[in-house]
Amino acid sequence: MGRAFVYVILGGGVAAGYAALEFTRRGVSDGELCIISEEPVAPYERPALSKGFLLPEAPARLPSFHTCVGANDEKLTPKWYKDHGIELVLGTRVKSVDVRRKTLLSSTGETISYKFLIIATGARALKLEEFGVEGSDAENVCYLRDLADANRLATVIQSSSNGNAVVIGGGYIGMECAASLVINKINVTMVFPEAHCMARLFTPKIATLYEDYYRTKGVKFIKGTVLTSFEFDSNGKVTAVNLKDGNQLPADLVVVGIGIRPNTSLFEGQLTIEKGGIKVNSKMQSSDSSVYAIGDVATFPVKLFGEMRRLEHVDSARKSARHAVSSIMDPVKTGEFDYLPFFYSRVFAFSWQFYGDPTGEVVHFGDYEDGKSFGAYWVKKGHLVGSFLEGGTKEEYEIISKATKLKPAVTIDLEELEKEGLKFAETV
Ligand code: FAD
Repeated sequence: MGRAFVYVILGGGVAAGYAALEFTRRGVSDGELCIISEEPVAPYERPALSKGFLLPEAPARLPSFHTCVGANDEKLTPKWYKDHGIELVLGTRVKSVDVRRKTLLSSTGETISYKFLIIATGARALKLEEFGVEGSDAENVCYLRDLADANRLATVIQSSSNGNAVVIGGGYIGMECAASLVINKINVTMVFPEAHCMARLFTPKIATLYEDYYRTKGVKFIKGTVLTSFEFDSNGKVTAVNLKDGNQLPADLVVVGIGIRPNTSLFEGQLTIEKGGIKVNSKMQSSDSSVYAIGDVATFPVKLFGEMRRLEHVDSARKSARHAVSSIMDPVKTGEFDYLPFFYSRVFAFSWQFYGDPTGEVVHFGDYEDGKSFGAYWVKKGHLVGSFLEGGTKEEYEIISKATKLKPAVTIDLEELEKEGLKFAETV
């Protein structure tokens, strides 16, 4: 038993949603496109799960955050897929793929064949067990990758009001969840091995500003150590966590955000893998010409930096998706994917954006005292390669994005650059 489609998207996350919209804009016919996803719901904006979804009052719930509302575009509800003749196969895991035969085998035993396959399998949260810590399947230990995780976290939050949470990890998930827990009146302690939060992006100066603000909200930071084990009650619920530095922290709730692994396993041995992702060219095409990869699972050439990168951010998922569909449906007119890496986050009343590459020398600018509008530039080999801005307006973000994309030479000395601040980007 099997069905055949011209185009199949494997995975139903952010990239899949944006790819579907692009397919319809380029004129896909009824019955040509199938999306197959393990999740039981149509593609949605995953970043909402650590933000609006966890609010105590009027939390965001589907269908409000289906793709592509995050890019101020159409909201693709299940009805939209139906109306556009797109087969949405939900709640169905693909358990194997035969790239040579161009077929997928689903967990329900169905074989689906394709002419073009787009891999959009994203990534999974790393588990503590992978670092030798047992017991993270306890009911009050939460990861956050998909809607099921978010529902569970929201339930545990509700039953932990005025209690204690331990957040493991100081990256995006840790920082955003900690803020949401505080808003839900939970006492938060963050634990991570690095010297400061958001270690891959923030400088110590930027991190200090956010951490100080978190402290005013009652958040405690325990740095330079990791979780080694849990304490449980007789029902198997975690009651405390033990840290390597000897500390024990009481916990009604533990949130773990220690990184992700791209879901490449179906393709190992069949497609070229690089930097942990499926290697694609500037058309998002893998080592098999019928197979494309997009979003968190793809390692693609970032032209601006002359390097292969795998990014774990929503903007690259959206844009790589559109580019892959354009490459498939209009190969002659579609050029190289020329992407400027872009990340953002929102916590409490803060909102920042980053463009480019956080490497080289850093120049901080703006007002770090009032903490409302400040930024940083990264300068490498005499060129601007990265820009960070907190509290910018739409226009200001556009200015730093455009300037960074041009990788301009920085001809003034760095002290002067600090004084110029945003004005430097404006005049590029
Ligand atoms: P995903 O959205 O993860 O989708 C992958 C899909 O594939 C899932 O539906 C999965 O179930 C499915 N799948 C995987 N394997 C199979 C299989 N074998 N069979 C069937 N289906 C399968 N980025 C930012 O830039 N800013 C943010 O503020 C931000 N916030 C975030 C907050 C949270 C809580 C999370 C989890 C991520 C956040 N991100 C953020 C990252 C962003 O959401 C991801 O970069 C984006 O979702 C990647 O899209 P994707 O389509 O590649 O993968």
